[in-house]
Amino acid sequence: MQEQIYLSNTYCFYKKSNILDVVQYRGESWIALEKNIFHPKGGGQPSDIGFIDGIKVIEVKKNKEGIVFLKLQDGYKPLGSVEAEIDKENRKKLAALHTAGHLINAVMKCQGFSYYSCNHEPRKSRVVMQLCSYVDKCIIGDMIEENVNNIVKKGFPVTATYSEEGLRVITIGHEIIDHCAGTHVKKTSMIEEFKIRSIKVKKETLSVGYDCSHTLH
Ligand SMILES: [Zn+2]
Repeated sequence: MQEQIYLSNTYCFYKKSNILDVVQYRGESWIALEKNIFHPKGGGQPSDIGFIDGIKVIEVKKNKEGIVFLKLQDGYKPLGSVEAEIDKENRKKLAALHTAGHLINAVMKCQGFSYYSCNHEPRKSRVVMQLCSYVDKCIIGDMIEENVNNIVKKGFPVTATYSEEGLRVITIGHEIIDHCAGTHVKKTSMIEEFKIRSIKVKKETLSVGYDCSHTLH
């Protein structure tokens, strides 16, 4: 059984853990930790970056059974207990970008748009909605920026619970509720410098490019 610490605590950046498993995949060695702090690539969010015993983690993937495996630089194969560390500033940045993605989605849903896809990679972060009507790019960009910043200022708590079916449910304030397995800030006021980077219309979609930071603490 692997404990997914990244799901319960965004701000756990360091953990000692035993090795749960080592597997070979396409000629590479991948390890799984009993106490896992690494977020795997998925749901529009990149993998966490970090180290195991000082050796760089270069890829993080989750298998069909939900076990998260790490690929280490140079095929390093640790034994027994290890020290796992993720890049703190990168984790905080991704949590801020990811949470802001929920806020954009919520603001757009209020305008009648439906979710299409997302990407929370720094400098490429965007939320893509299905286009439901003609839009003025400037007006909609200003509207999203203003509404998201209003939610940010209110400092709504961001909490995670599980449904009866075992799905993780993220609640922001009282009204924003999404199924999600990503990492989030504790409250919306931990997001800062939110701004719209671009608004693009492509075929039947509206792509909202954005950027933001995490507060210092
Ligand atoms: Zn999320």
